[in-house]
Amino acid sequence: MPAPIGREEREVLASYLSRHRLKRSAQREVILDAFLKAGRHVSVEDLLQRVRRGHPEIGRTTIYRALSLFKEAGLASELLLGGEARFEPKWNRDHHDHFVCVSCGEILEFQSPEIERLQLEIAERVGFKVEGHRHTIFGRCRRCASKPAREARAR
Ligand SMILES: [Zn+2]
Ligand SMILES: [Zn+2]
Repeated sequence: MPAPIGREEREVLASYLSRHRLKRSAQREVILDAFLKAGRHVSVEDLLQRVRRGHPEIGRTTIYRALSLFKEAGLASELLLGGEARFEPKWNRDHHDHFVCVSCGEILEFQSPEIERLQLEIAERVGFKVEGHRHTIFGRCRRCASKPAREARAR
């Protein structure tokens, strides 16, 4: 039987909180649940909308603080995409990078062992010790790229 969604993440969060002598909070658990269910690339605003359906008392600041904590606990990663921060679940997910459509905001993921290998080779050549990286490639998605130019300009 598969483990229920988020069980492992809840354990990771609980152990992070106890290591840092922080209290557990019911609101934070609600936010974690909504974050994991939302899946990918949510903004603070997206998550606020989702959480507020069941919990109108939870505010933006609480969401923002919870996301920062998830980040520190290794459960979320933050992407800065053209001025807006987005968050995605990180636990048990393979490393990947992103294409971002500048027209509609769509985000596509990609993985490339060749790129990963190449950048490590280059880093080694210049004596740089890599701890992580983010590739965000901007452009237009298939749908937006196929629109006539005047329609694209009207946006
Ligand atoms: Zn697009
Ligand atoms: Zn992603």
